[in-house]
Amino acid sequence: MNNWQYHLRNTLKDATSSNDFFQTQAFKDTTFSIKIPLEFAKLIDKNNPNDPLLRQILPPTKKFNTVTRSNVSGFSTEPLMDGKFSPVAGLIHKYPNRVLLIASQVCAIHCQYCFRQNFDYARHNALSNWSAIKDYIHAHATIDEVILSGGDPLSLSDEKLQILISKIAQIPHIKTLRIHTRSAVATPSRITQQLINILNNTHLSIVLVLHINHANEMSVAFARTIKKLNNLTLLNQSVLLKGVNDTLQALTDLSLGLFALGILPYYLHLLDKVDGAEHFLLSDERAVMLHRQLKKNLSGYLVPKLVRDENNEFKTWL
Ligand code: SF4
Repeated sequence: MNNWQYHLRNTLKDATSSNDFFQTQAFKDTTFSIKIPLEFAKLIDKNNPNDPLLRQILPPTKKFNTVTRSNVSGFSTEPLMDGKFSPVAGLIHKYPNRVLLIASQVCAIHCQYCFRQNFDYARHNALSNWSAIKDYIHAHATIDEVILSGGDPLSLSDEKLQILISKIAQIPHIKTLRIHTRSAVATPSRITQQLINILNNTHLSIVLVLHINHANEMSVAFARTIKKLNNLTLLNQSVLLKGVNDTLQALTDLSLGLFALGILPYYLHLLDKVDGAEHFLLSDERAVMLHRQLKKNLSGYLVPKLVRDENNEFKTWL
């Protein structure tokens, strides 16, 4: 078994093991299951109940939701309604030049603010529906970019990824392959030499979009492995989360930490309003104020775009 597959199995998967590990009683089992890789868990300060990494993986309490749901509106089980933009199972097509494939239903980590936590993964499996997906992309010559998402596409084995990437590369009008992943930072062991070879041996332009919300997530192991991919385009997208990264200092440290590793801060997403994530919501006014401060504090190339998926359109706010 590869080292990363060993790590993928060695995760905290329920409240009991999580409470034991963190010496707390804060974890409860809820409908969105707990999944915390030990590589990520070890970065958390067990003595700090407000640790910014801990807050991302701690399920909401019933008490919290009962209190707050009456105060916040617009939350639902599927805020982005991805299914409405899926002409073929496993493929989402919202914009003319690009399609997103649900390459895997598995993630290395379960983030409690995830907008796809209720997604119908059983219906959307790009690998099992590849034939129909290939026909759809062939029939739409305006598509020049394929995005691998999920779940996390890097939860696929190297062998499966290689097969999928070479199939995509055979479509003549596809020039760019974008890979959205949180595994790379949550389980740095996932960046295997075989994966590096696969990403370097395709004619497609590869854009690796990492998902990092706080500077503390960038461990020594992550810094070592991501540098092996610095010949690719490396971008980061974060979610603006109350209690995690909603201060000027946290956002500044994140941008500077990313840049030191050759990663450009790309998007800062406003929270997608999924049920159970109410406690992560910031007011729009505070988000805009933080972003303005960030622009004053940092060079322009270190300031991510503030964006929101609104009425099924991806809007750049600032
Ligand atoms: S890794 Fe991405 S898809 Fe998976 S739970 Fe976290 S935010 Fe959601």
